[in-house]
Amino acid sequence: MTPFTFVRAADPATALRLGAVAGAKYLGGGTNLIDLMRETIEHPAALIDVTGLGADIEERDGGLIIGAASRNTAIAEHSAVRTRYPALSRAILTGASAQIRNMATLGGNLLQRTRCAYFYDTAASCNKRMPGAGCDAMGGFNRIHAVLGASPSCAATHPSDMCVALAALDAVVHLESPAGTRTTKLTEFYRLPGDRPDVETALRPGELVTAVELPAIPMAARSTYRKVRDRSSYAFALVSVAAALELAPDGTILDVHLALGGVAPKPWRAFKAEAALRGKPATPDSFRAAARAELADAQPLRDNAFKIALAERTIMAVLGGLSESHP
Ligand code: SF4
Repeated sequence: MTPFTFVRAADPATALRLGAVAGAKYLGGGTNLIDLMRETIEHPAALIDVTGLGADIEERDGGLIIGAASRNTAIAEHSAVRTRYPALSRAILTGASAQIRNMATLGGNLLQRTRCAYFYDTAASCNKRMPGAGCDAMGGFNRIHAVLGASPSCAATHPSDMCVALAALDAVVHLESPAGTRTTKLTEFYRLPGDRPDVETALRPGELVTAVELPAIPMAARSTYRKVRDRSSYAFALVSVAAALELAPDGTILDVHLALGGVAPKPWRAFKAEAALRGKPATPDSFRAAARAELADAQPLRDNAFKIALAERTIMAVLGGLSESHP
């Protein structure tokens, strides 16, 4: 591990001042960053612990604002999250282990890195770890990699469950830097790899994630999250689906929120599927057509074509379940 300095920030102003120094990184629960430092993938010159800043979950404009230092467990167990945004609670509880969820923070979850094995293997070529080095996943074992939004430079998937639910729930990311504060939709916070897979988000140098806001969405009270993985615990998603569905009394789809995990370099809001569903009857044929509209641009690699069929079936199962339980 490369030597580094460590400071626990007592207030946001101190964190931002220290975070502006070249080579500095903000530290949440450390459940990914510390592993990356041990493996010499990340080597910050300074760590600024921001876990003492902003861990409240509060009402705002009929929605919730969740401090970036909130622990995953606290978010998942919060009564307002459980009752008004159950997809978020479910997504968090499918992730990692109880011990990791107790440590991990919201801000850290947003910024965790891919679990592509070649990214973690310093003997492998990886454009994300070393820009311009090449990508061993393209000709290697790529079963867990992306089928949507990838590029010839990188097909790594975003590993978060929580962020898939946040994408479906129209979450807004609050950011702060010495230049001021700003917000961005979570779906626009992440960028696709293109020819710069090492640049994963819209974060600016020294900028700190301070909170995530969930807008008021009444239909989100019936939202859900389903994760398909190789084993029933402590595994990343092969495919996941977060969704909420609003139906008219005659079964017509009035509104739908749908996001996918495990299939793309970022939490994937399924806008094409949503557009295909609005105004249609809530039937398996509609769900299948919408899934196929979203997945029409999928480009599988050698080992991951199964994700396309799996995503279609998971979307159909989730939407079918939501429509059957709709009051
Ligand atoms: Fe690196 Fe991305 Fe290729 Fe994985 S898929 S080896 S993270 S460039």
